[in-house]
Amino acid sequence: MARVLAVANQKGGVAKTTSVASLGAALCELGRRVLLVDLDPQACLTFSLGLDPDSLELSVHDVLLGRLPAGIVIRSTPDGSDLLPATIELAGCEAILPSRTGREHALRLALVEIAAGYDFVLVDCPPSLGVLTINGLTAADEVVIPMQCETLSHRGVGQLLDTVADVQRLTNPRLRVRGVLPTLFDGRTAHSRAVVVDVASRYEVKILEPPVVRSVRFAEAPGLGRSILTTAGRSKGAEAYRTHARAIAGVPVPPAAPAASAAVGP
Ligand code: ADP
Ligand code: MG
Repeated sequence: MARVLAVANQKGGVAKTTSVASLGAALCELGRRVLLVDLDPQACLTFSLGLDPDSLELSVHDVLLGRLPAGIVIRSTPDGSDLLPATIELAGCEAILPSRTGREHALRLALVEIAAGYDFVLVDCPPSLGVLTINGLTAADEVVIPMQCETLSHRGVGQLLDTVADVQRLTNPRLRVRGVLPTLFDGRTAHSRAVVVDVASRYEVKILEPPVVRSVRFAEAPGLGRSILTTAGRSKGAEAYRTHARAIAGVPVPPAAPAASAAVGP
C-alpha cells in the first residue's frame, strides 16, 4: 500500500513543485514506484514533467469530481514517476467541490483503488489553504512543508500547522508532520540559518536536513521537462533531494568514499 506524502505551504514560490518533482525522481532512482499528483490549477508540476496542460483532455479535476477513476487519467513521465496531471479546469473544482458531500475526501477515495500499485504518492498542493490543499492533507500519511528561508516565513508555517491540526481533528487523524524542508537556502549569509533556527524555536516541528541550497540549476530544469536529478544530477541540490528521498524510503545512507590516503596500500 502506498505511503502518501503531501507537500504543502500556502505560500507560492517556496519550491513545493520542485520538491515533488525532485523527490519523486529520487525515489524512482531507489527503485520505488511513485505517483505524483498535481493539485495546483496552475499545473506547473504537469508542465515541468514534460506534459502540456493545455492539450490534456483528462485531468485530476475529472477524478476529484468522481467522473473518472484515477487509473484512466494517470500518465507516465520521462523521470520514471507516474503523474496524475492537472489542467486549469482544476480551478473549477475549488468552486464545485465545497458544495459536495465528503468534499475533503475526494482525493483520498480516488487513491484507494490505485494505491496498491505504488510505494509512494507525492501530492503537490496549490498555494492556498482551500479545499484542494485540504484534500491533499486528508489523503496524506505525512506532510512535508517546504519553507523559503526569508523573514516572515515562520508565519506561513504557523498557519499551515494550525490547518494540519484541524485536519487531524476533523478529517484525517493519522496525518503527521514529517517536517519543514528549508529551500532556496543561501549558505553564504547568516540570514537563512537564522530563519531556520527561529522556526525550530517557535514550533514543535522537525527541521529536515540538509537544506536545499539556492541554485540556478533549479530554474533551468522545468523548461526541459525533467527534474534536476536528470538535468544536473551531480549538483548539490540534486544530492540534497536524494538524501531526503533515502530518509523517506528508509534506505541507509551509503558509506562515504574512502579518503585518498586510506586507498593507498602500505
Ligand atoms: P512552489 O511550487 O512552492 O510555488 P516552485 O517549485 O514552483 O515553488 O519554485 C518556485 C521557483 O523557484 C521556480 O522557478 C523554481 O525553479 C525555483 N526554485 C525552486 N527551488 C530552487 C532552488 N533550490 N534554487 C533556485 N531556484 C529554485
Ligand atoms: Mg507549485
